[in-house]
Amino acid sequence: MYPKIILDLINDLKKLPGIGEKTAERLALHLTNWEDIDLETFGKNLLQLKSKIKTCDRCGLLTDDTLCEICKNQQRDLNTLMIVSDSKDVYSIEKTGMYHGMYHVLNGLIDFSKGIEPKDLNFSTLKDRLKEIKEIIIATNGTVEGELTAQYIKSLYQAHNLTISRLGYGLPVGADLKYADQLTLIKAVENRQKY
Ligand SMILES: [Zn+2]
Repeated sequence: MYPKIILDLINDLKKLPGIGEKTAERLALHLTNWEDIDLETFGKNLLQLKSKIKTCDRCGLLTDDTLCEICKNQQRDLNTLMIVSDSKDVYSIEKTGMYHGMYHVLNGLIDFSKGIEPKDLNFSTLKDRLKEIKEIIIATNGTVEGELTAQYIKSLYQAHNLTISRLGYGLPVGADLKYADQLTLIKAVENRQKY
C-alpha cells in the first residue's frame, strides 16, 4: 500500500537496533512531513558518514580527523590505557566522567566461531603505545569472546612491567558495557581487579 520509496525507507529504518516494523512505518511517514532543507541535511549527513568517519590512527576510536578528540586532549592521563572492543564502550565510559586515561579500541573481539582472530582486530598499534603506559585496564565485555580477548591481551603483556586489571565488580556475567548503567560502570572501573 505504500509507495516504493517509503517502503524502501521503512526497510532501511528496520535495520536500526530497536526499530520494529511499526516504528519504522511511523518514522518513515513522519519524515514525509519534514521540510525539504531538513531532509536534505539528513541525507547529506548519512552520505558523509561513510566518507568522513574513520578510526583514530592511534586508538581506533571513531573520528573525522587523523587523531580523535581524546588522543588530542593534553589533559588526559597518559599512564592508564583502557582497552575496549567498540567505540560505543568509550562513549559509555566517557559519559560517567570518572575516567581520565586513554583508550584503545579493538573494533571487535576474538571469536573463532566467526573466524575473527587477533590479526583482524586493532592490535597493531597497541604495542607502540605501551612505553608510557603504567596500567592496562581490560574492559572487554563479560561474554565468552570478551573473556577470550582479555586472556589474549594478558598473555601478550603480562611479561611487561605494567599492571593489568580487568573490570568486573558489579558487571554481571555476559554483560555488555554499552548497556550497563552509569553507576554500574563507575563501580566497575573503581573496583577493577588485578588480572
Ligand atoms: Zn584516538
